Amino acid sequence: MPPGSSQRKEQSAGLVRLLGVTKMYTQPDHYDIRVLDDIHFEIHPGEFIALLGPSGSGKSTLLRIITGLSHPSYGTVLYRGQPVVGPNPHAAMVFQSFALYPWLSVQQNVELGLVAQGVAPDIRQKRAIELIDLIGLNGYEDAFPKELSGGMRQRVGFARALAVDPELLCMDEPFSALDFLTAENLRSELLDLWLESRIPTRAILMVTHGIEEAVYMADRIVILSKNPARIVADLPNLLPFPRNRKSAEFVQMVDQVYKIVTGWDEQKDTTPVNDEPFKATSDEGGRQLKPIPYGHISMLSGLLELVADRGGQDDLYRLGAELFLEVDDLLPVTETAELFQLAEVREGDLILTELGHSFVEQDVNDRKSIVRQQLKDVPMLRMITRVLRTKANHAMNKEFFTDILEEHFSVDEAERQLTTAINWGRFADLFHYDTDTEQLYLDEDQTEDPLPVASNES
Ligand code: ADP
Ligand code: MG
Repeated sequence: MPPGSSQRKEQSAGLVRLLGVTKMYTQPDHYDIRVLDDIHFEIHPGEFIALLGPSGSGKSTLLRIITGLSHPSYGTVLYRGQPVVGPNPHAAMVFQSFALYPWLSVQQNVELGLVAQGVAPDIRQKRAIELIDLIGLNGYEDAFPKELSGGMRQRVGFARALAVDPELLCMDEPFSALDFLTAENLRSELLDLWLESRIPTRAILMVTHGIEEAVYMADRIVILSKNPARIVADLPNLLPFPRNRKSAEFVQMVDQVYKIVTGWDEQKDTTPVNDEPFKATSDEGGRQLKPIPYGHISMLSGLLELVADRGGQDDLYRLGAELFLEVDDLLPVTETAELFQLAEVREGDLILTELGHSFVEQDVNDRKSIVRQQLKDVPMLRMITRVLRTKANHAMNKEFFTDILEEHFSVDEAERQLTTAINWGRFADLFHYDTDTEQLYLDEDQTEDPLPVASNES
């Protein structure tokens, strides 16, 4: 048996069980968005689980449901066999944003969870001081959050979570707001506390968008898809501690996770919300508008040029590292490249197509016409240009399109979708956009249908 946390694994019943957890959010216009779909998942004592998934996929939602801060629309969460109906007193959460109260001192912030549990003041103070010590903040008991660096604030976040002796420690991207070195220090300190059993925590569930972070810390990696979120992979990570990022085994594990993550595309689901039949008859793809990946053109060009420099093919993991992109920033760009038929993703490699090669070699005008050609088949862009052509003055407020998209996506997703569509449309000269008036409009020479299809469009 490999050393490390797997030795800690206790063969007892699950701590947490999710049975068919589904979460729908009702939008302001009463459309339902299905964020989590039929999630079955178990957390065992002794496990450190990393939860990976694209941004907006529902990781935070899942964490809130597991800790009892939010409720599933369907399905059940069990904690030690009992249904979770309210905030779980055996779970604690560490947030990316630290979530400290600015008017409370470090010690008062750390005591908060204990106050909520009705712990007597003298015990509470003693416990808080122990935790402040453990987490390396002694001497700062009376300081206020604004006097602390980001790394120290997150230490307070950890101390506060650990003060209640949680059996389950949940962390929502706890290191992503910190600079590189601070994050690295905190990671290894937390890992030491966990591996040396200096904290009574029985299991850790950490949301992250960093594949390396997941491979460095966790002994199980769960990967979510998006729209809606489903579990697409659940992998053990048996690398022995201490883990060396440079070792061949580590790199191989990162690569393996990368391959699964980049396979998200095939896992993508087109099941419409509201369970209505999917009508793919109109060119806008029926009542469910197909989401576009949010890869902006400048990033796309940069990525394709880099791949071309590498002979037309390279490992996505290496490309991401080179561009300082986390996977959920890189993937929308590679998905865009695939959508435009400029590249293909195969077994973790990005490979330029013939069109991709000519895109890279050509000047900006030729690039524009390649993109314009590819946008023909993108329902979102067809919808926008059609609306603008139909309007007498060939102009429309951005808000109009935001409203349309919010019938199909959550508010945040609608904004991301529209920002991307505008970026593409402007590049391809399909329409103009005035950032001051937030208007999309057509020039005289844009009023002809730029994306003609054979179907009978109005
Ligand atoms: P992640 O943490 O993976 O980035 P979230 O769980 O925060 O994703 O959000 C998943 C999706 O659910 C997003 O599209 C988000 O806009 C939407 N969402 C989250 N919370 C709410 C809410 N309270 N009401 C409506 N939509 C929400
Ligand atoms: Mg989140």
